[in-house]
Amino acid sequence: MPASRSASKPQFQRVVLKISGEALRPPHGCDAIDNTILSNICKEIRAVHRLGTQISIVIGGGNIFRGLAGERLSGIDRTTGDHMGMLATVINGLALMDCLEKLGVATRVQSAIPVAKFAEPFILRRAVRHMEKKRVVIFVAGTGNPYFSTDTTAALRASEIGANILLKATNVDGVYDKDPAKHKGARLYTQLPFMEALRNRLCIMDSTAFSLCMDNKLPILVFNLNKPGNIRKALMGKKIGTLVRDD
Ligand code: UDP
Repeated sequence: MPASRSASKPQFQRVVLKISGEALRPPHGCDAIDNTILSNICKEIRAVHRLGTQISIVIGGGNIFRGLAGERLSGIDRTTGDHMGMLATVINGLALMDCLEKLGVATRVQSAIPVAKFAEPFILRRAVRHMEKKRVVIFVAGTGNPYFSTDTTAALRASEIGANILLKATNVDGVYDKDPAKHKGARLYTQLPFMEALRNRLCIMDSTAFSLCMDNKLPILVFNLNKPGNIRKALMGKKIGTLVRDD
């Protein structure tokens, strides 16, 4: 559990950082991965990794393919589309790996579906050992099952590896009482109990991911990845974003 949110050393021993595939996309243009954005994210990860926190990353694939959208837009069977979506996360994970390694950060990619030529299989004890050896572990291919999301993967992997917190990187400052894009006076929550989020139907993650965190008392910090230095602030327990946790 996070201690105070204003300390001067990392507040968490082990974390899962969930990065959406969308975060890698350029603001304009149609490339799936923007090199400058990727490099900036990786530099931030390197900086926080040096602080000594054990870091694993769950990467999404929404910049390339989503099963649900594939079904809607192209009539692709949902299960096939989800397989494609999971493969998209593998592509993003390899991009992260390449960029982090070039910055001098040791990584291991672990996949939930067999892609033995590029990645290790997900093996819990091995993943934990990598983190103990100061390697950043990148989890790809989601849960390995269709009809799930990479948010659910992040909740699952965080629970499995015994992470202290799930850091959910987004493109807004945190959780609001109303959609900040539509309502000028939308209020940002700094702390939010799970039950209140449920009661007010606040959309933080899909319901499977959210219940997994709530049931396992796994705190979630929702924060803005577009603001430089935010990953560090999140790890240092600074007051950014919205901390969703048990009462
Ligand atoms: N996906 C899946 N099972 C999983 C995780 C992901 O089938 O356990 C598929 C699903 O089609 C999803 C896509 O992979 O839409 C990309 O993941 P997600 O939408 O969570 O990516 P993000 O929105 O974080 O970029």
